[in-house]
This record gives sequence, C-alpha cells and structure tokens, in this order.
Amino acid sequence: MALMDERIKAELLSIGIIDVEASLLPAWRTSTAGPGMGLQSIFFRSGGLRVRLEVNRDSPFRLARKGDHVAVLKGDVEIAEGMLEEVVAHCPEQVYITISERCIYNCQFCSVPLSRGRIKSRDEIVAIVERARSEGRLKAIALTSGIAVSPEDEIDRVVEIVRALSVYGVPIGVAVHPAKGSSRRLKDAGATEVKYSVETMDPEIFDRMCRGKKGHDLDFILKSLREAVEIFGKNHVSSNIIIGLGESDECVQKGVVYLAKMGVIPVLRPISIPPGRIEALKGAERPSPERLLKLTEMTRKILRKYDLRTDESKTMCLACTGCDLTP
Ligand code: SF4
Repeated sequence: MALMDERIKAELLSIGIIDVEASLLPAWRTSTAGPGMGLQSIFFRSGGLRVRLEVNRDSPFRLARKGDHVAVLKGDVEIAEGMLEEVVAHCPEQVYITISERCIYNCQFCSVPLSRGRIKSRDEIVAIVERARSEGRLKAIALTSGIAVSPEDEIDRVVEIVRALSVYGVPIGVAVHPAKGSSRRLKDAGATEVKYSVETMDPEIFDRMCRGKKGHDLDFILKSLREAVEIFGKNHVSSNIIIGLGESDECVQKGVVYLAKMGVIPVLRPISIPPGRIEALKGAERPSPERLLKLTEMTRKILRKYDLRTDESKTMCLACTGCDLTP
C-alpha cells in the first residue's frame, strides 16, 4: 500500500484541489473558517499525515474508492492510499467555530470581509459544542473570528464565549486579532492556546495586503505575540505566515527566526485565492512542492534550535495540520 509522505503531501498542497468520486462526497457542507471558507473540502489521512483538499473537478488528482478505503490518483497512477476523515466542525477531531463571519478590515487574501456574514451567539456556539460532546466527538475546541466592530469589542465577545465553554474541560484555542491585554483576558477565561497571525513578515506586502489600519499593524501583532508567550508559554502560541504573496524565501526565513526567537510557532500557510479576490491577488502564486519542502525543512531546523515543538499544540491548525506541511 502506497502511503502519503511529506513529498506527496507537498504535491497535493501545492495544487490544493482534488476531484472526488461522487459516492465519496459527504453530505454537501462547506467550511465556515480558514482558507476554504464557503468551499467544500475533504480530509485525506495516510502514512500518519493529514491533508485538506478543496473539492474541484479541475484537479490533476482524483480521489477514488478502493475497497474499504480510498486512493489518490494522479492521472491513472495511484500515489497514495488512506482514509477519508470525518469532520466534527470545520476539521477532524476539533470543534472549530467562526464567531463573527464578517470583518471591518479588508485584507486582500481573506474571504471573511466579502462574506458579510452573521455573528454567532454564545448559546448557538455552546449548542454546537454540546452536540459534539453528546456524540462523543469533543476532544478540543477552536474559535476564530473576524472583527465585527473593533478588536476590543471582538475580544469581549470571545472572552465571554471561552468562559462559557471552559466548563467542558477540553483544550480551547483562539485565533483572533489581538487587542490591548487580550492574552491575559483570554487566558483567565480559560483559553489554553492562542494564534495571532502576522500573515506576512514583509512590511511592504503587509501594508499592501492589509492596508495598515490603526491597531492593525505588524508591530502591534508582534508585540501581542511576545506578550502571549509570557502568558500562555511557548508551544502554545502560533502565527500564520502566508506563502505565495510575493515574499522571498529569505524574508520567510528571517520571519520564522524572529517568531521562533520569541517562542512563537510559525504556521507556513500556502495561499488560497478566494473567488472574490482574484483581481486583488494578481501575481500571487500557490507555492511549488519544492518550495514548500524547502521552507518546511528550514522551519523544522529553526524550531529545533529554539526548542519549539509543533506536536504539543492541542488545538487549531498545529493540531489539525490539514492545510500545512507542518514540521
Ligand atoms: S489546518 Fe487550520 S484552517 Fe486548515 S482545516 Fe485545519 S484547522 Fe482549518
């Protein structure tokens, strides 16, 4: 049986989409968080690795049934066999919920501001978690959110929800935009891990993509990450760096070293170009398998040097690994 290894996962992630045999498609559901927001995706597990791929007929890869399991084919050649994983909420083994599906910022790589979606209530979120608990599928909770009104207002909302969910006694991870004192408040409410994403460590790209609004600047996010490590401890603070926005490998390396020195684990996220962002992201490019492998090996060495481990995270993307070649 051919198993998925890092090279095959890099190839799949580099393309990001897969054509799935109709009989394998779970009841139509779309993701409400992360790069696949609003799109249907599957989770394929093989060789101890997991990959999330968007369902799309225009892929060189195909997922087909093979007895009691599935196989990934490139053309007619089988490249890996494995299992389709069940999704709890957004991803396997976690209840991952987006609170505010809207945002006052307008980062050019993100689909949340375009969705102008709703804000889930605390009770609604507790009901989703309670359903997973009653089905015996509650291992970890992850919360993410756009900024509906202001970073401060959003942290108020998230803190209230974390407090309500802390009674479940499972790890709680929060991926939000920081605000003054947010780490202390989230920790005191019961959060165990936090993610403040820099998105890019190239200041020019940050300004161009994130249009540096007050309180939404790289320096503030980096300052908040430093504070978060003091409060949550290392191995429990992470930050996404998008790969494919035009940044150089040197810039990624400098950024990974900068974050690791602070005790923050960088998550190298291959860019996904949301349908409504094609014009804004002209020139952006999903990284090749070779580039993904090179950057992952570089990150692995740097994490080792600063005694950081990705396998201690219990929530969010470091625990899931579906979208990233996590070292
Ligand atoms: S890696 Fe993160 S964004 Fe991707 S499916 Fe997993 S939890 Fe969602």
